[in-house]
Amino acid sequence: MNISLPQPTITPITQPFWDYIQKKQFYLQYCLDCGQAVFYPRAHCPHCFGSRLEWRPASGNGKLTTWSVVYRAGHPAWQERTPYVVGIVELEEGPSLLAHLIIDEVELRYQMPVEINYQEVDAFVLPFFRKKGAHV
Ligand SMILES: [Zn+2]
Repeated sequence: MNISLPQPTITPITQPFWDYIQKKQFYLQYCLDCGQAVFYPRAHCPHCFGSRLEWRPASGNGKLTTWSVVYRAGHPAWQERTPYVVGIVELEEGPSLLAHLIIDEVELRYQMPVEINYQEVDAFVLPFFRKKGAHV
């Protein structure tokens, strides 16, 4: 049985983020009132509640703060890809995000430098992270 992988739920607010990701570009919202980077995408800045947010290119670099090896997937389509690793990446720009990691389990370290790596999953590009400088 071939079950398709679930795609992210895209809303008008998150649409630009996913459009950039499909072009293998990583953009974050920035608040024009307080200057801070914002993730996940929102209508208002979580730091100052300003509503003047604009999309700017981001580095795609960060540090790994925690992770989990998944053996039992939350969706049947991901089950055949287990075990896989997901983790929280603290981006250079400040915000953190949850993402799949393409890092061998034995290499995982707290605060290890990581970088974005775009993976096509069922013809939809998703932002994964790998060890900084790795060629996978
Ligand atoms: Zn703000």
